[in-house]
Order: sequence, then C-alpha cells, then structure tokens
Amino acid sequence: MKKSRILLTIVLFFFCIVTPPNNLEKTTVLLLSFDGIRWDSIANIQGFDFLKKNGFSANKSRSVFPSLTFPAHSSIATGTFPKRNGIISSSFLERNGNIRFSDEKEAVWQNEPPMWYFCEKNNLKTAVLKWPLSQGGYRGIFPSYNLPYTSHSSDIETLNFIFELLRKKNDRPNLIMAWFSGADHSGHIFGPKSNEYKSSVLKSGLMIETLLKEIEKDNMKDKVILMVTSDHGMTDVKGEVDIVSKIPKKGFFPYIAISGPLANIYFENSRQKVETTNSLKIFKRNFIFFSQIEMPSEISLGSSSRVGDIIAICDFGFIFKPFKRERETLRGMHGYDPSYLDMHGIFLAYGKGVPKKEIDEINLVDIAPTILKIFGLEKSNNFDGKTLF
Ligand SMILES: [Zn+2]
Repeated sequence: MKKSRILLTIVLFFFCIVTPPNNLEKTTVLLLSFDGIRWDSIANIQGFDFLKKNGFSANKSRSVFPSLTFPAHSSIATGTFPKRNGIISSSFLERNGNIRFSDEKEAVWQNEPPMWYFCEKNNLKTAVLKWPLSQGGYRGIFPSYNLPYTSHSSDIETLNFIFELLRKKNDRPNLIMAWFSGADHSGHIFGPKSNEYKSSVLKSGLMIETLLKEIEKDNMKDKVILMVTSDHGMTDVKGEVDIVSKIPKKGFFPYIAISGPLANIYFENSRQKVETTNSLKIFKRNFIFFSQIEMPSEISLGSSSRVGDIIAICDFGFIFKPFKRERETLRGMHGYDPSYLDMHGIFLAYGKGVPKKEIDEINLVDIAPTILKIFGLEKSNNFDGKTLF
C-alpha cells in the first residue's frame, strides 16, 4: 500500500514536470518568414489578404540595422537587436580567435537565446525549419525537429514538412519556425519592381493559402496561430562602390567583411587604421564611414569584438563591390538603415485568440516576446521588443 502511494507520488511528480502548463500542448504557433517581401508588395494577393481581413496585421514591419537576412532573423528569433544578439552583419570577424562568421550558421553564434530555446526548456516541443542561425543546439538544448538552413532550399519541401508536423495531432510541436526563400532572390537579381519579384510574392501568397486550407480541413482553426513575417524589404541598386581595391591590404589584415551596403573593416595595428582612413577619405563617394565609437546611436552596432574598427555604409541604393565577382550585377539590395520605407517588411497573424486589428508598424524584435507570451514565457528574457497582443 505504502509502495503504491510512493509510486503514485512519483508518477504525479513526473506528470507535473513534463506536462506544459494550461493545456498548451494543444496550441501550435506557426511562424513563417518569407525572405525579402516588401511591406507594399502584398496588396490584393489572396493568402495575405485573408490574414489581413481576419487577423492582426501591421501596415509595415521595421527591420533592424543592418537590414540583412542573418541579423534580422536572429533579431526575430531572440527579440533583441543585433548589438545585443551579436549577429552584427551577414559576414563579420570574431576578433577573439579571428574566426570568420560568414560560413557559420550555428545557433551558438547568438549571444541571446532564440525563442525555441525557452520553449524547449519549458517542455514545449519546437520545430526549426531552415531558420537562419538555428542549426544545432543552444547551450545544450536542441529543437525537437530541425531542418538546416540553405539558401538553395526548396520551399515545397519545407511546406510538406510543416504539413507532416501539423498532422501529428497530439504530438504536434507547439512552435514551428520556418524560413522560406520568399522574394529575396528574384529581388536581388531582377529588382523589386520586376515581374519576377511580383511573381515570387504571389507564390508566397499561394503557399499561405494552401496552408490555410490544410488548417481548415484538419479542423485545426482553434488550435493553430499562424504568423507571417519577412526579414526586410528591397530597393533598386543605383551603383557599386569599390573600396576593396582602395584599401592597402597585404595579408589577412586589414580584414574587410562586406555584406551588401555594409563593410566592417578590422585592423591589426594603428598604422593600418591610419592608412585605410586616409585612402578612404580621398575616395569618399557614395558611402560614409565611422570608427566604432562614432557610429550614430540609432544604427550603432555596439563595441563588441565582432564590430569592425571602421564601419563603412553605402548611401541608399549603393552597394559595395564584392571581392570576387561570383555573381551577376545585382539589381536589388537591402541592408540599409531600417527607417527607409523600402526596407520595411510585413507582419500578419491569424488564429486562436489573435485579435482582429490593424496597426501601422511593428518591430521585428516584437515577434519573440509576442509568441512567448502565448506560452506564458514572456518573462524569459529582458527583450528589446514588446508584446503585440
Ligand atoms: Zn533576407
């Protein structure tokens, strides 16, 4: 008798530990990021229209500085700005050990935990599908399902995997974060005013429609919350700026990390800094440059070991010429100050408990605290963003 009571206590104890609070196992938040979709490109497209009419929507979503894919996705995932989460560009150098970031997409590069980490820590299941900077674990915690990020990925494959996860019924993940190529590639190659860009946005709308039908068909309407966002907008390229050939470079240093309109330049000694500053001053056209401490506060990247000794930024519409011409000249670019209207993306949400409301603007850093609030975990971190509903 005594033994069975002990057993019951143990069973109840484990049940309390592994059962998420408030029947949250029944809620699934599906966060989809469609890369590079501009705020003003989704009008009259059915999938987006439905979400706008029936849920919560922002006219624009403000990206971060720099408005580049990796910093923006890291900011969405962590609810913090690049200055804090450490993903200060899509290509940079970590001075501690002089490690290049550009080829690394591991979650551990983030100085702040992504939202899936807090969910998993609280026994909620997560699926992280191709989300930039979410490969591998974070402080020993792993998402329950993971597809690695690749810029050459098939969106259909991702969509099918989402269907598979949604059909898991009682075993459905509580949070699914998925990245889609969206309109980024066609925006870069053909420009944001091109038919190719428009057709990529249309395709993204179709995917949302398909997903909505699946949610409806499987009677999941009162169990799923669908959130759709993009990481940044896109603007026409006006010209290229070649700083690489102007900087006296003999070895690894000065190290020049270029991502679109942003260059972080790192030196080994003060002589290199003086030489580079002098040569950039002579050549200064269609870009500006600052030392770390001179950076204007609204676009400051902080003073961590990842920020260049000099930060050069192109004028709006200009881009830095890459080291090697691996690709054709680009017609569209992003990465600029997020206050430029062309850099704004989208945000829409629909489903269980989501208010029907239209607001003017959200910040990308608002998404993580909003999602974590749904799970009662909004106090997990001191986020830079605020909850939206
Ligand atoms: Zn992007």
